[in-house]
Amino acid sequence: MPELPEVQAVAERLRAAAPWARITGFGRFRSTTMTGGRHAVGRRIEAVDRRGKNLILRLSGGWFARVHLKMTGDLRVLPDARLRPQTVRAWFALDDGRAVVLDDPRALGRISLHPEQEEQELFRHLGPEPLGPEFTAAALLASARRTARPAKLWLMDQATVAGLGNIYAAEALFEARIDPRRPAAQLSRQRIERLHSAILRVLNSALASVRAAYERPGAFTEGEFYPVAVYGREGRPCPRCGAAVRRIPQGGRSTYYCPKCQK
Ligand SMILES: [Zn+2]
Repeated sequence: MPELPEVQAVAERLRAAAPWARITGFGRFRSTTMTGGRHAVGRRIEAVDRRGKNLILRLSGGWFARVHLKMTGDLRVLPDARLRPQTVRAWFALDDGRAVVLDDPRALGRISLHPEQEEQELFRHLGPEPLGPEFTAAALLASARRTARPAKLWLMDQATVAGLGNIYAAEALFEARIDPRRPAAQLSRQRIERLHSAILRVLNSALASVRAAYERPGAFTEGEFYPVAVYGREGRPCPRCGAAVRRIPQGGRSTYYCPKCQK
């Protein structure tokens, strides 16, 4: 699933396609793929933002489109709206002939249109942006003290940190040497501080590798160019101590960690 670095890179790539022409129409694969599309017609895309794993297309006249890429989505610009591949599930046609398309093989991504007054309510469940000023070690510690969940599930909760998902939560816990099963509330202040800086290091490093990946042609999977230490590496040696990386089910997903150096 695209996490913060991937969604951020998508936003940056879209910004490079400005200035935008007016939206003249929209299309969708099924009604749930895009809701309220008619509200976009006649408006211009004025800015592209990101909040957590959401993309926000700010439109003229006080509306915005919220785009969630889910598992396999990508939002990009096609030079000709008529040349859409079959995996395009929703699109906005522009009056210069281009199109902004949600290319999404698994068709789980969603676009919805909202007036700007709804923005705060829509993203109320999201915690601080990890690359923003609100995400401090003190805020992370306060959050850890309030939860009864194991560290990995707490970290993946979008209310803890916005934009962190399975891959980068696992990598940050590895860097901070924290066992993903350990209750977050038990982590000392020192370990939380270590985790806080690990999250920043992992996300910044992932962002750099994702940006580089987007400059190459062809399809792209999240985490593909990021040098993962544990994620997806079950049975392979831990790059720090050589022990076999373990995979366990946690919250319906796989968690990868080193049983020897994560305590
Ligand atoms: Zn290890």
